[in-house]
Amino acid sequence: MKMSRLFLETLRDYPSDAEVISHKLLVRAGYIKKLANGIYNYLPLMWRVLKKIENIVREEMDKAGAQEILMPFLQPKELWEQSGRWEVYGKELLRLKDRHNKEMCLGPTHEEIVTALAGEAIRSYKQLPVNLYQIQSKFRDEIRPRFGLLRGREFIMKDAYSFDKDEEGMQKSYKAMAEAYTKFFKRCGLETKPVQSDSGAIGGNISHEYMVITQTDSGEDDVFYCDNCDYAANSNHAVSVLNETNIEGEWSQYEKISTPDIKTIEELAKFLHINSSVICKCLVYIADKEPVLVLIRGDKIVEETKLMNALEAKEIRTASEAEIKELMESHGFKAKPGFIGPKGFDDIKIIADKTVQDLKNFVMAINENDVHVVGANFGTDVKLPVKICDVRLVEAGEKCPQCGQPLKVTRGIEVGNIFQLGTKYSKAMNSTYTDENGKEVPFVMGCYGIGISRTAAAAVERHHDEYGIKWPISIAPYHVIIVPVNVQDEKQMEIAQNIYNRLNSSGIEVLIDDRDERAGVKFKDADLIGIPLRITVGKTVQDGFVELKIRETGEISKLTPDEAVSFVSKTVQNALNN
Ligand code: ATP
Ligand code: MG
Repeated sequence: MKMSRLFLETLRDYPSDAEVISHKLLVRAGYIKKLANGIYNYLPLMWRVLKKIENIVREEMDKAGAQEILMPFLQPKELWEQSGRWEVYGKELLRLKDRHNKEMCLGPTHEEIVTALAGEAIRSYKQLPVNLYQIQSKFRDEIRPRFGLLRGREFIMKDAYSFDKDEEGMQKSYKAMAEAYTKFFKRCGLETKPVQSDSGAIGGNISHEYMVITQTDSGEDDVFYCDNCDYAANSNHAVSVLNETNIEGEWSQYEKISTPDIKTIEELAKFLHINSSVICKCLVYIADKEPVLVLIRGDKIVEETKLMNALEAKEIRTASEAEIKELMESHGFKAKPGFIGPKGFDDIKIIADKTVQDLKNFVMAINENDVHVVGANFGTDVKLPVKICDVRLVEAGEKCPQCGQPLKVTRGIEVGNIFQLGTKYSKAMNSTYTDENGKEVPFVMGCYGIGISRTAAAAVERHHDEYGIKWPISIAPYHVIIVPVNVQDEKQMEIAQNIYNRLNSSGIEVLIDDRDERAGVKFKDADLIGIPLRITVGKTVQDGFVELKIRETGEISKLTPDEAVSFVSKTVQNALNN
């Protein structure tokens, strides 16, 4: 491909609306152009990268026994009603009506469609297992589309769905996908960590996310992991063994004490000269419009996804001061919001984190202004809530639940995930097969997603420097760029063209920068767009040499054109065979 013909415009500056490096670089290097918030044009270089990622996915999915299909991305409401998600999915689901006033939605994912399809197309246990996948644009009206391709509204996903006759079959399919995922990401030049995660709105029990570890803000998830064993989990799912700390107050008697103007747990602990671990903290949440009290040890933080699951709620948020006041007033209390406590709220839901159940002689608020009680105990002074769950956010330094070593925390970008769905969808949608005994049985399902466009952006997050992108060879838009320094120089052009032809005919993907620009401009662009190998044809051709630069390491060597051709061929072959 000639640079002079390439539909490409590189920019001098980063776009002003970009926060993370992959977004900045993909726009500046001419890979993507924004159409609307969270919606992008994929330009030729980007599309080549995406197609490469897609093809690696295809190869690994096919090898694992999955079969490619393509489902419509406009979906009828009826199927979503059958699964129960028309109501649950929230505003990310873009709902619309066709000319006959029929309600439809743009596919954010395809469990409904594929479950209905399998129910119609698979009749007997003899046809199982089946794994169907597709690669397609999805639409989700994300509340905060940001970070370019990392969180778009329209984005490309590979989604696969497995159908098995039983739990054991599903486990096998799940394992095959896990192995395919590890190979896939490795081939894309991305190291990933599979971490346990919450199954969220998708449902089911066991699930893993594939995380690209990054210490920057582009990683939207916190991952807790252990260096000593293989434990790793998203913060919404992580558990830990707590370090020993004082959970027994020094007061032997239940008594009221004055705590004037105390507003926070920290202030209270300081005022009483105690560790906040002997305080029973009471928080107010609104879960699906209903107020809920949450008790947790004073030094711990609530993890909201865990809380939402424990409450089986669709939506939760912390209550505002006004809502807390209103709640207290409706129960006859006139205190300020900071003094809310669990006593006297028998008619509303109260949930306790596991950390409070062993507290003794603790401190708590009792809905009176400027007062707390000390020496309180569950059973005698206040009821222990019936519902006790783990709703605590793990903190680094707490002990690994598998081996007891201190956990560490890092940020990660979720590039893929795998879920054991079980019969959640097949039961709800009555999607069945006939088993050995002639009985109609729901499929046992799994689902498996990979963000294709997010994977490309994650690769840029991991592979770049101050000059631009450094694509791994396997997903680079072109393997090599040839830069004739002076296009007016016949000798340079002849040798450049000759190298170009030889590489091209051996299957190497080559760009040649035939633009009549200064060498500096061409070098800058080559670095910015991130082509892994560069062959510069300049004055040294007089002595029979060209220059080869490896983008990844910056290493430069002087080679004959023959040597350069064979080096490039070998390097590319090696990278692709990996
Ligand atoms: P997230 O927690 O990041 O919103 P998700 O749990 O909603 O992801 P899934 O519904 O399981 O994701 O989708 C499968 C994959 O699709 C994800 O692992 C991710 O790589 C990708 N993906 C999800 N949402 C987006 C988005 N808004 N933009 C780009 N890729 C996305
Ligand atoms: Mg999401």
